[in-house]
Amino acid sequence: MPRDFLKDARDHYDIVVIGSGLAGLTSANTLARAGYSVLLLEHHYQLGGMATWFNRRGGHIFDISLHGFPFGMKKSCRKYWTPEIAERIVQLDGIRFENPQFSLQTSFDREDFTSILIDKFGVAAETVAEFFDMARGMNFYDDQEMTTGELFERFFPGRDDVVRMLMEPITYANGSTLEDPALTYGIVFSNFMSKGVFTFQGGTDALVRAMKEEMTANGVDVRIRCLVEKIEVTPGRKVAAVVVNGRRITCQAVVSNANIKQTVLELVGADAFDNEFVDETRAVRLNNSSCQVYIAMKPGAGFEPCGDLLFHSEHRGFDIDAMLSRDISSRTFSFYYPRTRPGSDRHLVVSSTNANYGDWADLSEEDYEASKQDLCETTLDCLEQYVPNVREITDHVEASTPRTFQHYTRHPLGASFGTKFEGLKVSQGLSSQVEGLFHAGSVGIIMSGWLGAVNYGVIVANEVDKLLAPAPANV
Ligand SMILES: Cc1cc2nc3c(=O)[nH]c(=O)nc-3n(C[C@H](O)[C@H](O)[C@H](O)COP(=O)(O)OP(=O)(O)OC[C@H]3O[C@@H](n4cnc5c(N)ncnc54)[C@H](O)[C@@H]3O)c2cc1C
Repeated sequence: MPRDFLKDARDHYDIVVIGSGLAGLTSANTLARAGYSVLLLEHHYQLGGMATWFNRRGGHIFDISLHGFPFGMKKSCRKYWTPEIAERIVQLDGIRFENPQFSLQTSFDREDFTSILIDKFGVAAETVAEFFDMARGMNFYDDQEMTTGELFERFFPGRDDVVRMLMEPITYANGSTLEDPALTYGIVFSNFMSKGVFTFQGGTDALVRAMKEEMTANGVDVRIRCLVEKIEVTPGRKVAAVVVNGRRITCQAVVSNANIKQTVLELVGADAFDNEFVDETRAVRLNNSSCQVYIAMKPGAGFEPCGDLLFHSEHRGFDIDAMLSRDISSRTFSFYYPRTRPGSDRHLVVSSTNANYGDWADLSEEDYEASKQDLCETTLDCLEQYVPNVREITDHVEASTPRTFQHYTRHPLGASFGTKFEGLKVSQGLSSQVEGLFHAGSVGIIMSGWLGAVNYGVIVANEVDKLLAPAPANV
């Protein structure tokens, strides 16, 4: 008999959350805390979505997306999760750039960036201050016409070295480019610049375990290996039920943490929406994907401190095509020391590159395996510049590609960072099309990344609460 992953699940919940990415987890937890009955359904055997990890023989644990997030995550975790989770969020202060134009290390905050821009790049102090103030003042309601490229041109005309320092880490963090709206850059950049780059000590596995405990304590019914096939909507456009693993479960509201386009076009179906809304959904552009190479050193073997995050590039200026190309010339290395997981003796490196799904999608199995092997080898060659004996001390190496991300998260094109800016409007517009239908997940660049996903999960939970909360008694 196949195992029933919905054993003892009820036939009705107030809210069903589809997907356990950070936004789905946070929505589920917030709604359960508010007293609703919540069912969380995840198709994978592990919770966390792209906030995930994997184990390999020899006791190695690799984190996929634990490279760094802004300080705001600490505040959000304290408020919407637990003080214990928040306490484990610690700063990474070794952020390095190594490229033909400059070599530097920074704590990646406004104060340090200001000194670097003035002292090393010779930019006038007033220009730097004005730039930071403008970036920090940007918000969702601002002019959405100005592009990030135009913002840079206004403050730093002709300075491709300055643009590279300001833009490369943000492209790496959320896939955005010089063509995206300046406000998406301003918001994300300023979040980082407030205090620098942070990580979760103990690893993603410890974080997700702690989140699961908290959700369970708050009464969320958590189910893995449960693939939602359909969200049922009444002819009057109200959410009625979900169909999962062949079973129908009714509910008053659904929060979908699946990709926004999949939610509208596949899980619900275009018929339930206005034509104009469907057209807008179809027009949403997905963000690009990633390749990673995971390298574990032998137990007890290590390397000298190399920084925490190292932006390595071999070409001049900020060049998005070069960053996405399969002919890789830009890599971001995350160096993990034993302190990442206190008590461990392991040093690991994860190398990440932004990538085009199309470059990997249609390779034959043979070419695909050969390309992954080549990716591993060329990454080790590059890493030798920073860890000279890396090949001697390496115990395990493997690569992931946009195909891997698509397989595990079901995101079309293996999109690592959700959608471009227009995805936010569609995500926010769902509930005005179908009563009780919500989306929480990486969209619009600003709601992407660990912090964006957690915060969007809370925002959407509040919207669900507004719909379902009983009207106040008339006294
Ligand atoms: C390589 C890489 C590196 C990254 N590095 C960083 C970083 O350093 N810092 C940072 O802040 N962010 C980083 N990110 C981005 C960050 O991880 C994501 O933005 C964030 O985790 C996404 O959360 P989410 O809630 O949008 O959902 P996702 O993580 O996309 O999860 C969606 C979940 O829904 C599930 N699902 C989908 N469809 C169904 C269905 N029909 N039924 C049931 N379940 C379903 C999926 O299995 C998945 O678990 C990185 C991402 C990648 C890929």
